[in-house]
Amino acid sequence: MKKKICLIYTGGTIGMVHSDKGYIPSGEGFLKLLKGMPEFSHPDFPDFEMIVFSPLLDSSDMDVEDWNKLGRTIASRYAACDGFVVLHGTDTMAYSASALSFMLENLDKPVIFTGSQIPLYELRSDGRDNLIAAMLLAASDKIREVCIYFGGVLLRGNRATKLSADGMRAFDSPNFPPLVQAGIDFKFRRVPDLPKKEGAFRLQTFEYTPLGVIKVFPGIRFELFEGIMTESLKGVVLESFGAGNIPGATTALLPILKKAHDHGTIVVVRSQCPEGKVNLGTYAASSALKDIGAVDGGDMTTEAALAKLYYLLSKGLSSAEIKWLMEMNLRGERS
Ligand code: ASP
Repeated sequence: MKKKICLIYTGGTIGMVHSDKGYIPSGEGFLKLLKGMPEFSHPDFPDFEMIVFSPLLDSSDMDVEDWNKLGRTIASRYAACDGFVVLHGTDTMAYSASALSFMLENLDKPVIFTGSQIPLYELRSDGRDNLIAAMLLAASDKIREVCIYFGGVLLRGNRATKLSADGMRAFDSPNFPPLVQAGIDFKFRRVPDLPKKEGAFRLQTFEYTPLGVIKVFPGIRFELFEGIMTESLKGVVLESFGAGNIPGATTALLPILKKAHDHGTIVVVRSQCPEGKVNLGTYAASSALKDIGAVDGGDMTTEAALAKLYYLLSKGLSSAEIKWLMEMNLRGERS
């Protein structure tokens, strides 16, 4: 029997058209183009239904409430459909895929994000292949998680990051192999299993929670951050050097982080290097972070670390539980 896929169009370059201010999302023109694609009536193409978001967004405008809307849409069609394809802008696709990977608890069906670097109506668009491959992968029995299909590879959503602003292979997951390599056939790779699911599918929407990302750099003046590291900041992702090192580990930053930690802010340390992992305590420049109770972010991406903070904070857990779970592998987001 043919699989039924729910195709959700949220916006992004794939459906954009030129305007005098640059590319903007378009509804009708894009839908007309889709309807005219012969692939959609090919006998091997899955059945599908389409949901079009309003307003259509450039993904740089995606917000927590848009993730919730996407989560609710998938939850409402979960029983009726075998898989989901989300057409989304590339700029924040890795954030949204990470968010949905946590939000959709005990997910047992494929949710494939895709989009394009060149709009579908343009001659050299990469949208056609991305969309068709994503639809076929969403109809596959082998994928049961949130992924990104882009430029010939299927990546785990919460491991992916946008690495190229203009290349057709815009995404990569430097700490995790692609799940599928698309050649003449789809080559499914054996990857470590996802953590065991515990119960039925459930949606955990996110709350608006004040979070921050600080990227350290030589010459950084930590005093400037003191004003934002208050009780209202619930979590901060610290993008450190290498394996978790920060400048002046024994001076300026630490008292500020310690104060933040003591009034409940979760401090997650991840590396600025796309590849490899944090290992607090390897160098003196990082062991002080361990001492003040910072969370070792391991090999999580910043996108996944932020999404996970939103998720755990939205569940109303204690700081101790959140810190513990941040260091666990919940959805395959860390090794
Ligand atoms: N600015 C666009 C977006 O993220 C870029 C893209 O889709 O490639 O919506």
